[in-house]
Amino acid sequence: MPPSDEDLAFDPDVLRERYRVERDKRLRPDANEQYQEMAGEFGHFVEDPYIDGELDREPLTDEVEVVVIGGGFGGLIAAARLSEIGISDVRIIEKGGDFGGTWYWNRYPGAACDTEAYIYLPLLEELGYVPTQKYAHAPEILAHTRNIALHYGLYENACLQTAVTSLEWDEDAERWIVRTDRGDAMQARFIVMSNGPLNRPKLPGIPGIGGFEGHTFHTSRWDYGYTGGDSNGDLVGLNDKRVAVIGTGATAVQCVPHVGAAAKQLFVFQRTPSSIDVRANRPTDPEWVKTLEPGWQKERMENFNTLCQGGVVEEDLVKDGWTEIIRNLISMANYRGKDTNWDDVPRLMELADFEKMEQIRGRAEALVEDPQTAEALKPWYRQFCKRPCFHDNYLQTFNRENVELIDTDGLGVERITNKGVVTNGREYEVDCIIFATGFEVGTDYTRRAGYDTIGRGGQKLSDKWADGMRTLHGVHTNGFPNLFIISNSQAGFTTNFPHSMDETAKHIGYILEQCADEGARTVEVTKEAEDRWVEEIIAVSRYNEDFLVSCTPGYYNNEGQPNPKSVQNGPYGKGSRPYFRITAAWRDEGSMAGLERTY
Ligand code: NDP
Repeated sequence: MPPSDEDLAFDPDVLRERYRVERDKRLRPDANEQYQEMAGEFGHFVEDPYIDGELDREPLTDEVEVVVIGGGFGGLIAAARLSEIGISDVRIIEKGGDFGGTWYWNRYPGAACDTEAYIYLPLLEELGYVPTQKYAHAPEILAHTRNIALHYGLYENACLQTAVTSLEWDEDAERWIVRTDRGDAMQARFIVMSNGPLNRPKLPGIPGIGGFEGHTFHTSRWDYGYTGGDSNGDLVGLNDKRVAVIGTGATAVQCVPHVGAAAKQLFVFQRTPSSIDVRANRPTDPEWVKTLEPGWQKERMENFNTLCQGGVVEEDLVKDGWTEIIRNLISMANYRGKDTNWDDVPRLMELADFEKMEQIRGRAEALVEDPQTAEALKPWYRQFCKRPCFHDNYLQTFNRENVELIDTDGLGVERITNKGVVTNGREYEVDCIIFATGFEVGTDYTRRAGYDTIGRGGQKLSDKWADGMRTLHGVHTNGFPNLFIISNSQAGFTTNFPHSMDETAKHIGYILEQCADEGARTVEVTKEAEDRWVEEIIAVSRYNEDFLVSCTPGYYNNEGQPNPKSVQNGPYGKGSRPYFRITAAWRDEGSMAGLERTY
């Protein structure tokens, strides 16, 4: 039988009220506007610390078949899949000094991926590689991205250290003109935009942030020249330093243990605690590797995604924190008692969530010695309001003599002075401030991309999407022929993002193959097909509207202010499995419905 409220070890009404109070403390009218863009006097925060020197090359004015924007996972997978179907005249344009995207920039100590490496690292079978651990660390992931580029010969034609500044459709030539900060004005028949969902670091708009006279950097541009050490820690440069880390999201959770181990004094400034579950990493078992049959990676990715979407599988292959969380949530809703009343499912899901979060709060209490600090580290919100974290040393770091948690009770840092950080009316003098404050999410697509796109009739993408994105399947937009998008927006969101990027890359490959077979010169979504998809996106977003509104603010719910535009810019609300089925059925139907071609 499903549990009644009396069977539970907690009082759901008390927890609901506590969650509401904690959320309300954090709601602020300025939502996304609270952050400081890294431009102007803050532009140095995004300079590339990993290049040996500025690239010096002549501007390009040549023509290629496909320009892929972004050399992260999305761009690499797209180029790989295109190469597999015989399209090799592909140029990747990448702002960083090398391939890797997120993994090029995020080299902070302790950086690793929370999603199992066997499903997260793309193209493992194609490269004949199996990661060394269940959760790969950043250097291994970065090395893998370079190996993908080498394997598919992507370095030869690539433009690294190059940022696109504009795209413009030349109607007469039926080509895109791609302009860059290196003076290029190259032409391309097709464009694939894979700018990355979290590519633009942000700073908090804390009063006084520009006036700090000590050292400072963002975690996505880690300054090893200052801290010493490397991705494994050993940050000897901090041994005589007082350090502030601002932010306690997934990045801080990974780097704080290393900073705490090295710094003379570390203050961690917290606005909202993360939920920290068990990590339990382990080396790859060579005997297991021998058992892997062709097709194993795709099967494992699908197995994971099915579980994460509430589906049933015979065996949970990944068996990690993600599938455990979701298995528990679903099992409480589905299987506790065969006579489950389906109207009761949301209540049961909420109860399973309360149960899980009680366990997470219990973990903080068990591992942190000082009761007041332990209390402050307890998260009071539903598990998927923020990204769940997994770490075996983060909470224990607060037991160190030299580490202090400065909890701001949901309000955030008050002020930054020339000497340090002020909160709760007290100034903490420090030598260095490290911003673990994340990346822009809710801002406009073209702002995050860093360039605008001018389509047919001089229409700007920023204008077209001013009130929200408009696409078919998240991939095409009317008025912008021969242009494809790889992103989460209006597409299938997965915990394992490379899975959905691969689905989109194959989808784009299919379309380009069809166009080649038909001899089509251009391909463009009709306005009608686009309107229908946008209507569908808006209609199905209602699935999780109540959940988002009740959540503590963060980038999942537009900083506590989900609105029609943020919902429209979000992923397909029924989840990635239904989305993948829709795009597969669309391909199977065979007519490329909704896409107009010219010959
Ligand atoms: P997040 O956006 O998750 O975290 C930013 C942090 O800064 C939050 O704790 C936020 O508090 C805090 N903050 C913002 N403004 C202030 C302020 N004024 N005063 C005090 N604190 C403030 O960024 P991350 O870089 O941690 O992570 C981004 C995403 O990257 C993750 O969600 C995940 O998707 C991915 N990632 C994955 C990793 C993995 O696989 N292990 C590791 C790292 C990142 P508040 O919560 O209150 O807004």
